[in-house]
Amino acid sequence: AQRQLVEHERLAALGELSAVVAHEVRNPLGAIFNALATLRRFLEPTGPAPTLVAIVEEEANRLNRMVDDLLDFARPSAPEFHPVPLGRLLEEAVRTATSGQSRIRVEWALRPDVPPVPVDERMIRQAFLNLALNAVQAMPQGGTLRVAAYRCPEKPGAVVEVTDTGSGIPPELRERLFTPFFTTKATGTGLGLAIVQRTLDAHGGHIRIDSPPSGGTTFRLVLPLGPEVETQTG
Ligand code: ADP
Ligand code: MG
Repeated sequence: AQRQLVEHERLAALGELSAVVAHEVRNPLGAIFNALATLRRFLEPTGPAPTLVAIVEEEANRLNRMVDDLLDFARPSAPEFHPVPLGRLLEEAVRTATSGQSRIRVEWALRPDVPPVPVDERMIRQAFLNLALNAVQAMPQGGTLRVAAYRCPEKPGAVVEVTDTGSGIPPELRERLFTPFFTTKATGTGLGLAIVQRTLDAHGGHIRIDSPPSGGTTFRLVLPLGPEVETQTG
C-alpha cells in the first residue's frame, strides 16, 4: 500500500511537470509550424531548401507526438466505457500508422462474431495506434502487418492481435518493454507500451507477446466483456 501511495504521488508530480513542459513546448512548436507554412511560399523549388524545410517539419512533428505521448502517460483521464466496434478503431489506427508506408502490406482477419466490448474509445484507439506504429517501425525494409480480431474462446470478451514480420523481440527484453521510458529506438519515447499496459489494466484485460525465433512479433490483447464483469467474477 505504501508503495502504491509513493507510485501515486510520483505519477501526480509527473503529471504536473508534463503539463507544464507540454505547454512550454507546444507554444514554440505552434510558432515553428506557422513560420514553416509561410516559409514554404518563398522557397526556391530548386536547391536544398525544400528538403531542409521538410526535415524541420518532420522533426517538429516528432516533438509534437512526443509531447502527446508524455501527456497521455502522465495525465490519464478517468476512462468512460461504451461499446464500440473494435474493427473501426483498428482500421483508423492502421490507416494512421501505415500512411505513406508503401512497403507495408496489411492483412485483415476481423471475424464478424467479435462481441462489442465496452471500451474507453480514446484510450483503446491510442493503444491500437501504438501497437500498429511499433509494428510498422519494426519493419523498416517493409513487411506484412496482420490485424486479427475474434471472440475470446476462454471467457466473454474479444481478442485483438497485431502481428508484424519484423525484427522480433529477444526473450530477455520482453519483460522490460512495458516499463515507462524503455526504448531501443534512437528517437523513441518508450511510452507506447506503458500506455498500452495501463489501458489494458483499466479495461480489466491483459496483453501477451509472442515472438518466435523464426522472426516477427504478435501482440495479443484480451478485452473482457466489461470491467464490471471482470471484477465480479474475479
Ligand atoms: P518506443 O516505440 O518509443 O520505443 P514502446 O513502449 O512503444 O516505445 O516500445 C518499447 C520497445 O519495445 C521498443 O523500443 C522496441 O524495442 C520494442 N518493441 C515494441 N514493439 C515491437 C515490435 N512490434 N517488434 C519489435 N520490437 C518491438
Ligand atoms: Mg512505440
